[in-house]
Amino acid sequence: MSEDYECPFCSIVGGEARASVVAETDETLAFADLNPATEGHTLVIPKRHAAGLADLDPAVGGRLFEEGMAVAAAAREALDPDGINFVLADGEAAGQEVFHVHLHVVPRYEGDDVRFVAEQSRADREALDAVTEQLRERL
Ligand SMILES: [Zn+2]
Repeated sequence: MSEDYECPFCSIVGGEARASVVAETDETLAFADLNPATEGHTLVIPKRHAAGLADLDPAVGGRLFEEGMAVAAAAREALDPDGINFVLADGEAAGQEVFHVHLHVVPRYEGDDVRFVAEQSRADREALDAVTEQLRERL
């Protein structure tokens, strides 16, 4: 992202753009998604701008998840959904559209039209071990 990218989520944090705020902590802000997939669809963001996960302090990432869990619990009580999805798109190929990290908390209801589709196929053990090794070496 270029330096003059006007981040819509930073505008919300800064109070220049309106949002229906669900919860606020020192480091996170949770607000209603303007284009909700289902009733109660909420975004949880770090207040400090981070375009993607690689830019986000892992401790703040932990608090983002914590706040997502709190919103999920509130949604369970208030809206009685049948389930809840957490979705975080990191990068354009993953479907990220606003380049400020955000965790979607999406209450799910039997019969809703939300679909996460992935064609998956069984890998052989050698391939699994090879990719596992690549990850292990970096952790
Ligand atoms: Zn931002």
